[in-house]
Amino acid sequence: MTAPQPGQPVVFRNATVLTMDDAHTVLSNADVLVSGERIAAVGPGLAVPDGTAEIDAAGGIVMPGMVDTHRHMWQTAMRGYGADWTLTQYFVYYYLQWGKIFRPEDYYAGNLLSAIEAVDAGVTTSVDWSHGLRTTDHADAAVDALESVPGRFVLGYGNIFAGAWEWATTPEFRDFYTRRIDGKGDMLGFQIAFDLPGIEGFPEKAAFDVARDLGVNVTTHAGVWKVTGDVGINQMYDGGYMTPGTIYVHAASLSPDSYHKIAATGGFASVSTESECNAGQGYSPTWRLRKYGIPVSLSNDTSVWWSADMFAAMRATLNADRAKTHDEAHEKDETLTNHFLRAEEVVDYATRGGAKALGLDASIGSVEVGKKADLVLVKNDNSPVSFPVLHPYGHVVYQAGRGEVHTVLVNGKVVKHDHKLVGIDLAAAKAKIDATIEYLKAEHGAEEWEKGMHPEIPEHEILNNPYTYRDDVSAWKESD
Ligand SMILES: [Zn+2]
Repeated sequence: MTAPQPGQPVVFRNATVLTMDDAHTVLSNADVLVSGERIAAVGPGLAVPDGTAEIDAAGGIVMPGMVDTHRHMWQTAMRGYGADWTLTQYFVYYYLQWGKIFRPEDYYAGNLLSAIEAVDAGVTTSVDWSHGLRTTDHADAAVDALESVPGRFVLGYGNIFAGAWEWATTPEFRDFYTRRIDGKGDMLGFQIAFDLPGIEGFPEKAAFDVARDLGVNVTTHAGVWKVTGDVGINQMYDGGYMTPGTIYVHAASLSPDSYHKIAATGGFASVSTESECNAGQGYSPTWRLRKYGIPVSLSNDTSVWWSADMFAAMRATLNADRAKTHDEAHEKDETLTNHFLRAEEVVDYATRGGAKALGLDASIGSVEVGKKADLVLVKNDNSPVSFPVLHPYGHVVYQAGRGEVHTVLVNGKVVKHDHKLVGIDLAAAKAKIDATIEYLKAEHGAEEWEKGMHPEIPEHEILNNPYTYRDDVSAWKESD
């Protein structure tokens, strides 16, 4: 099977289609025709123009491209390095010790691999929550990498090494926006990315004013245990900066009052369930956000632990939400007999929910005529988990994985076909990553590099067990 040529119309034949339209219509044995950048027709047995490339989607699921609303793409250069970290270890590593040594070329390498990984996994839109931009040279490198990969991206411009009120107000920042972002439309969006730890006097106000002046949204890690909490939310609220379209990343450890404020002002949550469960920002909050009516999108945070895999994000989110509701019931000596959160809703979080959070709902997020063609075909004829497809949402969340991503279109362009990336040089990306790893290792020294990956295990974990009666365990017996 050869990949469709650029500009050639494409039709998916005989798919199960999760349209993710307002009614969440699911179609069986349906076709999806793409012409130019857009979806031209959806329905059974479509007549198509001469020269249309046909993709046999029988047995597969066509769904909207997935949207990741928060990912620190530069850190993909260190894929998996922090698997055993807590958030504290992450902060020490990137904020205090080593984040500063990333050069523009390291930034480029991380972003490049991250962007390739995203489109390969069917994530057609990614927010690059780019918080290591010490100079605009780093920012140029970040955008150079994003523009070299045929995905849809939003640059969340940030810099953890200085106050947002310092860097966002500089002429260099304004010049960067004018040079690299302004006029790129829906292929390269822009947010200003910074956090509010509750500094007295609310200096971040200046950065909010820049966002307002440029007409762009702010994305902020909010509700991160003991780091960003209600004080920051109140500063934003009192200043009138909780505007519609603001994204609150994690939104885990907040008071009822803060959740009400987010809901009332048109904010969106970006939930990174694997991150919250592992790093410790607070219990992954979808169970709570539902109660306040806060719209949810999903994200993967950073590949220093996790990958760009939104199947994993959906699965983790359903797991964490259901675990919480079971546990709440058990605490009350009750049994939960019906789930509140369904697989269908989590697929919405990963697609339409992300599009809405980014203000892109008019262009992407559903399989509907007239929308931009950001599409994923989930199908793998060599996989025993590919059939039977009985509950298509459940199949996507619990059965499929990135290995089932057969074809991906972004803005009408085929970027992956028959399980292979189209026009992407993975070997060149690997060479750049190798050079970055070599540089980082040399800067750290071999011992520090190894140590960084293997933090100490704390001493106290196993409880003293009163029922132990082995002779060699004497503490309880002696007190008897
Ligand atoms: Zn983050």
